[in-house]
Amino acid sequence: MSKPALGFIGLGKMGAPMSKRLMEAGHTVYVFDRDEAALAHIVSAGAKRMVSVKEVADHAETVILSLPTPEIVDAVCLHSGGLIEGSKVKRVVDLSTIGPRAAAAVCKALEVAGIVYVDSPVSGGVMGAVKGTLAVMVSCPRSHFDDLESTLAIFGKTFYLGEKAGQAQTVKLANNIMSVAAVAITSEAVVMGVKAGVDPKIMLDVINAGSGRNTASADKFPRCVLPRTFDVGFAAALAYKDVRLCVEEAEHIGVPMVVGSAVRELMSITLAVCGKDADFSDVVKVLESWAGVEVRG
Ligand code: NAD
Repeated sequence: MSKPALGFIGLGKMGAPMSKRLMEAGHTVYVFDRDEAALAHIVSAGAKRMVSVKEVADHAETVILSLPTPEIVDAVCLHSGGLIEGSKVKRVVDLSTIGPRAAAAVCKALEVAGIVYVDSPVSGGVMGAVKGTLAVMVSCPRSHFDDLESTLAIFGKTFYLGEKAGQAQTVKLANNIMSVAAVAITSEAVVMGVKAGVDPKIMLDVINAGSGRNTASADKFPRCVLPRTFDVGFAAALAYKDVRLCVEEAEHIGVPMVVGSAVRELMSITLAVCGKDADFSDVVKVLESWAGVEVRG
């Protein structure tokens, strides 16, 4: 049986490999990105080039989004020329991290036009997107999850979190504040070790055999900091956005976040010091400059 055609908007670090996986699995994919180079790359891999968001929504019943911020998701879905004006679209699957309140608002606005919003953020980084090993969190009406599950499984392991848009976003923000906090505290600890004269490679080996082990010590530091490539593939601006959304959401529902607030400030400093194109792992450079040392493998 032929697989349904899909739309895909946002062909960046995550969207590019995910849309390729859909094509490899036999789906025709109608794509759009406002960045011509990102669009051309996926079209050369076999996707159908569309010239606008609306054109994607005129060709596919299910349109997938992988976009940077809540403001951009809102515009792509609801502004003039947005998905909401498409003639064919019936369902929007949003893989972006935008926070629970933005997800609920977009869901409500699309509902008025008879379009179902599937809240479906992902975790596991660019490598997870390439290999299809992401954690795919989903909240939407159960029947839509059942219908989409085999498609979402192309991206990784699926987790159903409930009927309400925003429930998956809450879990995604919780996951990411922990991930960013791990990078922040590992940066502080390893820079301290280097300043005290310890070899950072041996220090990480010890931590990874001990109780301090985390995703930064086990993966990001050996892969991107010791060789000084600083290419985790997740922008510091997006990490900051996720932590900010998490702390704001926690405040909104009455949960103080002391550690999370400190992590947010450190990400804000990283952006101010390293610039808007900084990688998530550039946090280490900030700590290094304060301490006057360099973490090298
Ligand atoms: P990215 O910046 O690499 O890609 C976003 C793409 O969206 C870009 O190609 C950009 O040109 C396009 N875009 C922006 N505005 C647009 C518009 N108005 N119309 C059409 N295209 C538009 O970001 P990414 O790293 O791929 O992340 C995408 C989403 O996934 C974000 O919400 C991010 O927080 C989340 N995420 C990222 C990672 C990661 O490791 N990079 C992991 C999990 C989740």
